[in-house]
Amino acid sequence: MLKIYNTLTRNLDEFKSIDAGKVKMYVCGPTVYNHIHIGNARPIVVFDMVHRYLRYLEYDVTFVQNFTDIDDKIIIKASEEGVSFKELAEKYIVKYFEDTKELNILEEKNLHPKATEYISQMESFVQKLIKKGHAYEIRGDVYFDVESFKEYGTLSDQKIDELQIGVRKELMDGKKSPADFALWKSAKEGEPFWSTSFGKGRPGWHLECSVMGRELLGEVFDIHGGGIDLVFPHHENEIAQSHCFSGRPPVNYWMHNGFLKIEGEKMSKSLKNFTLLKDVNKEFEGSVIRLFFLQSHYRKPIDFSRTELEMTKASLERIRNSYARIKSVAQRSDILESEFDDQLLSALESSKKEFEEGMNADFNTAIANGAIFQLIKTVNQILDISKERVSNKLILQIKEFLLATLEGIFALKLERCDIIENNSTSFIEYLVNLRYQVKMEKNYALSDNIRIFLLEQGIEIRDSKEGSTWKKISQ
Ligand code: AMP
Ligand code: ZN
Repeated sequence: MLKIYNTLTRNLDEFKSIDAGKVKMYVCGPTVYNHIHIGNARPIVVFDMVHRYLRYLEYDVTFVQNFTDIDDKIIIKASEEGVSFKELAEKYIVKYFEDTKELNILEEKNLHPKATEYISQMESFVQKLIKKGHAYEIRGDVYFDVESFKEYGTLSDQKIDELQIGVRKELMDGKKSPADFALWKSAKEGEPFWSTSFGKGRPGWHLECSVMGRELLGEVFDIHGGGIDLVFPHHENEIAQSHCFSGRPPVNYWMHNGFLKIEGEKMSKSLKNFTLLKDVNKEFEGSVIRLFFLQSHYRKPIDFSRTELEMTKASLERIRNSYARIKSVAQRSDILESEFDDQLLSALESSKKEFEEGMNADFNTAIANGAIFQLIKTVNQILDISKERVSNKLILQIKEFLLATLEGIFALKLERCDIIENNSTSFIEYLVNLRYQVKMEKNYALSDNIRIFLLEQGIEIRDSKEGSTWKKISQ
C-alpha cells in the first residue's frame, strides 16, 4: 500500500485517491523569465517519477504543471530586454521544453496552463473572497486577510502571531497585518495590466496556482507538489485562499522535494550559484541526470557536483551493460529450463518486492534503485557461472521487470544511442575481427568488452573454430 509523506500532517499518510483509480495532481511550474537551472530540474524529475509510479499502480493520472507567465521578475526582465512580457514568457516556455526534452518527461497528456489564460476566473475568485470578508482592497491592490482564516500557518507549522514578526514587512498604509499577502497587484506606470472591477492590475503568484488547480482539477484534488521552499509562503497562501473560497481544504496530500545544493547552499538564481540545465545537458545525457536525482530519496537534500554526475554515469553504464547481456540471452528460444531457474526466480521476486516496498514508502527511489542493483548483480553472477546457459523464460521476465521499472518509472534509456551510426558494416566487421584477434591472444577482458559494446549496439557475435560471425539482434 502506498504511503506518502504529507507536509500538512507531517506524517506518512496512507494514499487514498478521491476517485477510485484516478489521481489528480498539480505541480508548481517555473516562472518563465530565464532558462531553468539544474535545481529546478529536481521537482520536474521527482514528480514525473511520482506520476509514472502512480501509473504503474494503474491509476489514471491527470497531471498539471503550470507556467507562471506574469510576474514581477518577468516584467523587469522584459523591460531590460526591450520586449513585451508576453514575448519573453513565450520564449522561455519554448526554452523550457527544449531544455527538459532529454529528461524524458511523460508529456503526452500533461496539462500546462499559463496564468494569463485564467485572468477572468482569478477576478471572480478575488471578488468572492472580498464578498466573504477574507480579502480587502486598498487603492487597487487586494490583500488576503490572514486573521480571517484561523488555520493559517498549519502547513508551515507557524502561528500567525509569530508570522507578524517573521514576514518581511511591506510598509503599506492600511494593510491590516504585515502577513497579509497580495491577491491582486495594481499596475504601475508602464506595467502590463488587465482591467477588473478592482482596477487595472495583475494577479499575485499564489492566486494564480490556486485558480489554475481549481479550474483544471476541481475544488479538492489529490496531490500538490513543489520544492520545499514553496511551503511558505506560496503553498500556505494557496491553502488559505482556496479553503476560504470553497469552505474546504483544497488538497489532500502536499508533497515537497528537498533542495539540490551546491557547496552546502541551496542552488538558486538569487544566490547566483546555479548551473543551467541546458549546460549540464551538453555533458551528460538526460538518463544520467534522472538517475542522479532518483538514486536519492526525493525529500533528502542532495549535493550537485561533477564528480557525483560522473559516478552516476558509471552506474548507468553498469545497468546498461547488464541489460544488454540479459537482452541477448532473452532473445534465445532454445533453453526452456535450467538448474538456475529457482535462483533467478527468487532473485527476481525479492527484487520486485523490495522495489515496490521502497516505492510504496513515500516513493523511496533510493531503496528501489538498490533492489534493482542487487538483482543485476545476482543475475550477472548466475550468467557468469552458467556461461549464459539459463532458461530464457526467466531471463525474459527479468528483462520485462527492468523495462517496467528502469524505463517505465525511472525513465532511463536502457539502450544506448547508436554509436555505430547506421550500423556501418565495415566498422562492425573491423570490431568483430579485432575482438577475435584479442581473444586468440587470450586478452579475455578486452574481448569481452568489445563483445558487450557490440551487444549494446544490437550486434551479436558467434564464435567458431574458423573465426567469429555476427548478426543483428532483431529488436
Ligand atoms: P522557482 O523558479 O524558483 O519558482 O522554482 C521552480 C521549482 O523549482 C519550484 O518547485 C522550486 O521549489 C524548485 N527549486 C528551486 N530551486 C531548487 C533547488 N535548489 N533544489 C530543488 N528544487 C528547487
Ligand atoms: Zn504554485
